[in-house]
Amino acid sequence: MSKPLLLALCLALLAPACADPAVDEDPVDEPALTADELAALPAGADDPEHALAHLVEGPAVDDGAAFDDELPAPFVDVEVVDDGAPRFAALLASGLHPRASDALRAAGVAAWRITQTIGDAPASAGYHAADGTVNGRAYCAATDLSVRGLTAAQIHNLLERLARGGFAAWYRKDGVDGWRGADHVHVVYANARMKSQLRAQVRAFLVGRNGLVSNTLYRWHDFSDAAVRAVKAKFAASASGTSNGGAGVPARINTAGAPLTVRAGASAATAAVGAVADGAYVVIRCQRRGQTVNGTYGASSLWDKLDGGYVADAYVATGSDGQVAPTCP
Ligand SMILES: [Zn+2]
Repeated sequence: MSKPLLLALCLALLAPACADPAVDEDPVDEPALTADELAALPAGADDPEHALAHLVEGPAVDDGAAFDDELPAPFVDVEVVDDGAPRFAALLASGLHPRASDALRAAGVAAWRITQTIGDAPASAGYHAADGTVNGRAYCAATDLSVRGLTAAQIHNLLERLARGGFAAWYRKDGVDGWRGADHVHVVYANARMKSQLRAQVRAFLVGRNGLVSNTLYRWHDFSDAAVRAVKAKFAASASGTSNGGAGVPARINTAGAPLTVRAGASAATAAVGAVADGAYVVIRCQRRGQTVNGTYGASSLWDKLDGGYVADAYVATGSDGQVAPTCP
């Protein structure tokens, strides 16, 4: 079977899955891919992400020096108000989430390097279909970047910077790490609502895998712990890719076993409105003082407001005994 024919067949089989991006209701981080997520990955190893990857590229600029060192520029990650104006001029007219645009800008990526955001080619639907709309513009959490003119060392630095800015990132090099196709960098911005295929890719990144059908260990670049932590924190801020809320402080539940009860107010005397699993990554929207609770981290009167209600801060790893989020109104 010819490659194009094989590819067309795979894409035909993939189409129904692409048209119905399922929403994962479980915001708990699950680093290992589930069977469903693996099943959601397209069949066929030729070019599972985007068979027709490349949009028209703008004029290339020699920006290699921008990626010559390992020091990441401080990245910008601002709250997105759906009806408000973005804080910075968008890199592209459309296709990028505003936070991803800012983070790419902070990483030193110019617009001309962006070769694909929303792929309108049917072949790209699985990964580069629109994920949603922010500020009235459609976006895709996945973006392809040209590596034109960059040395291997510069690409290593680019990957590191992208990850520290919150992108799950891979250099797709023909014949390496399971990739067959044009050389490029594929990134998924972790702090945005995204389709299930992309959530699976972020989870694959967090456990050092290539995010392709094979999902083998990714070997071309060894990301620093800081870079992986940055992506994990951004993924938590989007409730594992299910929310565009964005703003908030990522944290992790630590009860040493039992689920933590979510309360209607800042006291165990208020109604239980839910529970969150030990080890779950959560986003704290705000905090307030309430009943003092003795927990994993000692005694504290702080309560953390999650999207569903309040949990005792004494059971939440925030990196601080003090207040880390704004006071609840
Ligand atoms: Zn891609």
